[in-house]
Amino acid sequence: MAKSIAILGSGISGLSTAYYLIEKSIQNGVRIGKIYLLEQQSRVGGWLQSKPIPNTDGEHFELGPRTISLNSYAGINVLSLVNSIGLADQVRWVSKHSKSFKRRYVVIDGQLRLLPSSLSDLFIRRPPFKPFFYYLLNDLRQPPVKIDDPITDDISVDNFFRQRFGEDIARYLINPLCMGITGGDSRSLSMRSIFASLFQKEQTYGSIVKSMFKKEDIFRDLRHDHLVSRSIDEKWAVFSFRQGIETLPKRLSSLLAENYPTQVELILDTKVEGIEFPSSDKCVINVVHKQRGSVADKIKVDHCFSSIPAIHLGSLIEKDQLKSTLLSIKTVHMAVVCMKFDSEIIPSDMGFGFLVPASENSNILGVTFDSCIFPERQTKLTVMLGGYMFEKLFGHPDQVDHQRIIDISRQALKTYMKIDDEPSQVHVAIHSDCIPQYTVGHQRRLRKIEQEIQNLPLSLLGASYYGFSVPDTILNAKREAMNWLRHQI
Ligand SMILES: Cc1cc2nc3c(=O)[nH]c(=O)nc-3n(C[C@H](O)[C@H](O)[C@H](O)COP(=O)(O)OP(=O)(O)OC[C@H]3O[C@@H](n4cnc5c(N)ncnc54)[C@H](O)[C@@H]3O)c2cc1C
Repeated sequence: MAKSIAILGSGISGLSTAYYLIEKSIQNGVRIGKIYLLEQQSRVGGWLQSKPIPNTDGEHFELGPRTISLNSYAGINVLSLVNSIGLADQVRWVSKHSKSFKRRYVVIDGQLRLLPSSLSDLFIRRPPFKPFFYYLLNDLRQPPVKIDDPITDDISVDNFFRQRFGEDIARYLINPLCMGITGGDSRSLSMRSIFASLFQKEQTYGSIVKSMFKKEDIFRDLRHDHLVSRSIDEKWAVFSFRQGIETLPKRLSSLLAENYPTQVELILDTKVEGIEFPSSDKCVINVVHKQRGSVADKIKVDHCFSSIPAIHLGSLIEKDQLKSTLLSIKTVHMAVVCMKFDSEIIPSDMGFGFLVPASENSNILGVTFDSCIFPERQTKLTVMLGGYMFEKLFGHPDQVDHQRIIDISRQALKTYMKIDDEPSQVHVAIHSDCIPQYTVGHQRRLRKIEQEIQNLPLSLLGASYYGFSVPDTILNAKREAMNWLRHQI
């Protein structure tokens, strides 16, 4: 009999799971019954949100992710998805060789310092760094980082880079990078989980530098896709869409609604409040329909795919062991301040943005130069704040004083970029529990979760487990969908 499925959450993970389930089931001749896509908000897309700017000709602010990186198999997989859902002509991209991609800065002693980005920089001294050649030699001289268990043993990101490249790189490069991409502290984050491929290469080849000379054609099975091969030939580094990154979830949602109206049921404004497993092949989802007078309902299905963050999913499940492991994957909050100015106040090739190391004791994590990444005539900047320091600096996310966040952001632009201009548009977004923290031991936690769910009709999606970028979550959705389908054949 055709199996029924519930997908919890209609962010990019939930939507791509629905898409891959349908597409791959047709290819593999598996019949699927009803798919319920349950979403607590009145929109799809989760963190992918492109907010229209009032009084402009279709301009937008990105409140969550702004670009999709193509530096991994997962990134290239997104391009192939984009092509197959008919969005190729909407793509806008940045070349690896463009100044706007290569020029990145860190703040050191209150000043913006340009990071090395070309071979000639290997021999140039840019304080506080020595010529980069020195760090590469250091890496070549070190033995591989010693670990006992090849599957679960871990080391902090900070410790790993300190051992391989030394204090300057760990402190001024890797620490702000971690704050910028995860909102977390490199001293507590897991090397094995945050930089999995780099860690693997170091263990295999004995050094990061040596691994750079080993060419692997990781995109082999996707090269036939013309958008993928174009992106490789033209050296695309990152991409988004002309109308903003939200184009992707919106397109997936409309495609599912148009092509599979009876099979896929998207139920918005519906909060999942509990999940029960009466047997090893049945699942009951307790929901509350917020727009229908908070009516409680039960949805019975054969299998559940959850993209709800682990820390929230843990509180919905009765099973004690699983609950406590899920609850141990903590998250951080972020504040995002998007600003638009009425003229070009920074050069359009100034770069990608800057990050701030913890040693600067700043109130901000970094700034992206949005109107340089995808060139525009008027300047747009986004200031990121919070992360693991959020509550200490700004209090509870529900009670944040927005004006204070704007004032801090403007002060940071003045201090680091000498920008005193008044923005014509400002938007503040406070994102609670938005980025899961893969702290040291994350892989051990994942193995426990895998054991605990192996006899349950439950698959786990989303940023809490196997990668927190958009590409990682889409690739994980594809793998989980295919894994489930394999068991149905
Ligand atoms: C500020 C910020 C910047 C980022 N920048 C980048 C970037 O530049 N590049 C990049 O690749 N990645 C970036 N990321 C990461 C990226 O946004 C996430 O990996 C991705 O959006 C995760 O998607 P998801 O569908 O797994 O989760 P989500 O987007 O969180 O979707 C989960 C969905 O589940 C719903 N939900 C939750 N609980 C319930 C419930 N109880 N009942 C019903 N529905 C529920 C939520 O409303 C949501 O719609 C960024 C993230 C943030 C927060």
